[in-house]
Parts: sequence; structure tokens; C-alpha cells
Amino acid sequence: MVLEAPGLRLREEHRALPACTGAHVLIRVHACGVCRTDLHLQDGELPAASYPRVPGHQAVGEVVARGPAAVLPVGAWVGAAWLAHSCGTCRFCRSGQENLCDAARFHGCHVDGGFATHMLADSRYCIALDRALGAAAATPLLCAGLIGYRTLRMAGEAHAIGIYGFGSAAHLVTQLARHEGRRILAFTTPGDTAAQGFARELGAAWAGGSDEPAPEPLDAALIFAPVGALVPKALGDVRKGGTVVCGGIHMSDIPAFPYAALWGERQLRSVANLTREDGVAFMQAAARAGLTARVSTYPLGRANDALDDLRAGRINGTAVLLCETRAGG
Ligand SMILES: [Zn+2]
Ligand SMILES: [Zn+2]
Repeated sequence: MVLEAPGLRLREEHRALPACTGAHVLIRVHACGVCRTDLHLQDGELPAASYPRVPGHQAVGEVVARGPAAVLPVGAWVGAAWLAHSCGTCRFCRSGQENLCDAARFHGCHVDGGFATHMLADSRYCIALDRALGAAAATPLLCAGLIGYRTLRMAGEAHAIGIYGFGSAAHLVTQLARHEGRRILAFTTPGDTAAQGFARELGAAWAGGSDEPAPEPLDAALIFAPVGALVPKALGDVRKGGTVVCGGIHMSDIPAFPYAALWGERQLRSVANLTREDGVAFMQAAARAGLTARVSTYPLGRANDALDDLRAGRINGTAVLLCETRAGG
């Protein structure tokens, strides 16, 4: 399923299978998760993206062919996440911050991703997965889970944590944080009682609208909704010395706010992309916590419906494309 240019809908296209060169492998994609970043791609909000592009950076499948330098065998069960390549030599790559590499390339942004029956991926950037997780249920771990994990780590030892925007990342972070004994307060779109109920079901101590004040001082706030106005709101909800972490790749402009909102050694920071080390650490943490992803599945040919449902907030958990079933309208 191809996005020809920003603003368009995806279009089905038939291509010959690509040859594997270098360290690349060909993955037969079983399932690929749909992410808010795919909406940003469709809306032309990712400055680095090039078109036409096959979206998808939460792909799970089996290696069916390999280049001569590939580090994975045929038959390996893997995930292809956002990071497709990094330079390996810059100051960031050399210091464990390959997520910040200026030459980094991302699946479904610079190179084609997993909204397809097959995709090419550099074997050195694939994430080994436990086949027992199942294909569809494993896809959300590759972005929502991983970014959520990195965002949670940025909150340090925070106990009472507010989560702003209760979608795919939030529903996995909540389970992880609960497993670590932390307290979760969920802020959703005002009036979204379905999302609030979902948050409580997953163990949130409180759930309400993002227009409501926090019922208690927060140690940290994790913002997953792409809404800049939530930044001053969250700063107002955290205690002195607390941290506000922005977990999304794109956000509307942050309105001006008084310095007093940041005063008291509050911290404001973002999370950008992910490293392969995050992948290994998170998959272990996910297994320990027994994370279960809630998914709504669509056949690959209905990718546009999945994007529409995500945009309209009609999905609790994660939308997932089943890439082995092409039919469906
Ligand atoms: Zn994503
Ligand atoms: Zn680099």
C-alpha cells in the first residue's frame, strides 16, 4: 500500500520482489501495526520523509531471503521497527545515541516499510522476536511499546505518573509501569469515557479528561497526544523537581507560558526515535511484565480504513494490518 504524496490516500500497487544485497534481508510480513506517525507521514508533517513511500514501522514477519552479509538466517522471526539505519561513526552513534544520528534512516519514512506483503530491512537493525507472541500482538511492541518504554525511562524513578493521551503507547506503558509498582493517572480527550474506562481496566488509579486538574501532585508526566497545549498543562500538574516528557514525533505549537510553570527545577524534554539497545532491553521488560497488546485487525487492503479509524480516535489499543490477507476492499 503506497502513499504517492502527502494528503493522498494509500493505493494498492503490485511490485516484483526486490533482490537482497549486502546485509539486507527480505521479510515476508505477517502483520504491521499502524501508528500516529503514519498519519503525520500522510499529512506531510515529517520533514525528512520522501514520497512515494510504503508506510509502516511496526512490521513482524519471517526472513525469506538474505544478502551475502546478512546477520540473520532464513527462517528467523523478526520485527522491523522505526530505525532502519544509522551511520555508526558520528558522535551520537559512538556514544550510544544512534537514535540521534543525523544520517539515520527510518522505515516508512526514508525507506519502504511494512504496509506490504514483503519488505527489505538491514538485518543488523532487525529486532529478534519470540514467535509465541503471535504476529499481530507483537507489532505494537515495536513502536508504541518501545517509544513508551524510552519515555517512561526518561521519567526516572517517578512514582505518580500522569499519562496524557491514552492510545497505543499509553496502554502498554501503563502495564509496564504498574508491573514496576508505579501509580498511573490517565488524561484523555475530555469526554472520552471509553478511553478512561480502558485506562482503569489496565490499572490506572485515576482517569479523567485532560481539561481536569491532576487529583494529586505528579512526579512525572508523559505526553503522547500530539497537542502542544498539554505541555503547560502537564507542567502545572507536576510537583517541584518533576519531569514532563514529550513522547511523540510531532506536536502542535506549544503556547507561551509563564516561567513560573517551569520554575522549581521542573524539567521538560522530548524522546526521539529509539536505539537497538532499547529494543533488546524493552523486549526483556515486556516479557517480564507479561505485556498484552490490545489490537484491532484489518486486512492489508483496508489500510486506509485503519488510518481513518486511528485519526478519528475509534481505536482502543493498536490498529494492526494483517499483511497475508490482501483482499477486503
Ligand atoms: Zn510509530
Ligand atoms: Zn551516526
